[in-house]
Amino acid sequence: MSDLLLKFSFNGARARGEIVQLGAAWRDMTAHHRYPPAVMRVLGEMAAAAALLASSIKFNGALVMQIYGDGPLQLLVIECQPDLALRATAKVRDEPIADDISLQDLLNRGGRGRFVITLDPKDPMPGQQAYQGIVALEGDSVAELLQTYMRQSEQLETRLWLACSEDAAGGLLLQRLPDDNRSASGLLDEDTWERLSALARTVTVEELLAVAPETVLHRLFWQESVEQYAPLKPRFQCSCSRQRIQKMLVSLGQGEVDSIIAEQGSVTVTCEFCGRKYSLDPVDVAHLFARGLERADTATLEGGTKP
Ligand SMILES: [Zn+2]
Repeated sequence: MSDLLLKFSFNGARARGEIVQLGAAWRDMTAHHRYPPAVMRVLGEMAAAAALLASSIKFNGALVMQIYGDGPLQLLVIECQPDLALRATAKVRDEPIADDISLQDLLNRGGRGRFVITLDPKDPMPGQQAYQGIVALEGDSVAELLQTYMRQSEQLETRLWLACSEDAAGGLLLQRLPDDNRSASGLLDEDTWERLSALARTVTVEELLAVAPETVLHRLFWQESVEQYAPLKPRFQCSCSRQRIQKMLVSLGQGEVDSIIAEQGSVTVTCEFCGRKYSLDPVDVAHLFARGLERADTATLEGGTKP
């Protein structure tokens, strides 16, 4: 298993695709957590899907997927940077979770779950906001949810196959491109799309997780004229820092932080993505608020961290 994302297109047909495999990246992402198997499965499929979508949407910035579940899965966050640096975290409620629980029971038990995809620009123009899309929580698999999202938000017919084990996560994306009427080869007829989809559908879980993406591509589409591009390298990387944690504490307010100091003698913040601990003693905190008050207006609460 490698950490690799391979993009490809079909010569003479308006369709493209991507295969992703996460090995070490997936294991590093989850090394600091112990999740129930059903949660691992959703998290891994979402991580593979995040890499696939991030590299297929034309956008320079982070793609963030957040699920606020009302079942045993309370929160799930995946973040993918434009260079395919990934991080992920999940929070579960204190109740037993069956290995074969359905996706709906896991995160949308009472019908009040929410799934938000945010495209957060890397170098925002003045006044430019992050773009947020709501994904309908309809369907029995992560792939189904995201196919609907792509159809609605990108207006592109997209098919996804996702898989996950403890050691690896993987996925295949097939996308129909908008017709280009300027050339004879700019149209994709229904039969061709259905043939490519049928070939892609034969992909197995074993191929997604344990066979080199180049080999999978060849096995699936050996009869087609396929162009493949230079492979990309997804990896695990957490963007937390002492500075971001300090900003988050400033935004909490001095009263709140002082009361933690009074109770515990110091403040320790654990990053929920990578497990790194940041500790501040009373002197650090006094300095922080002496400085922090001057720039409190720029403080933001960082996602995924909490005191
Ligand atoms: Zn971190």
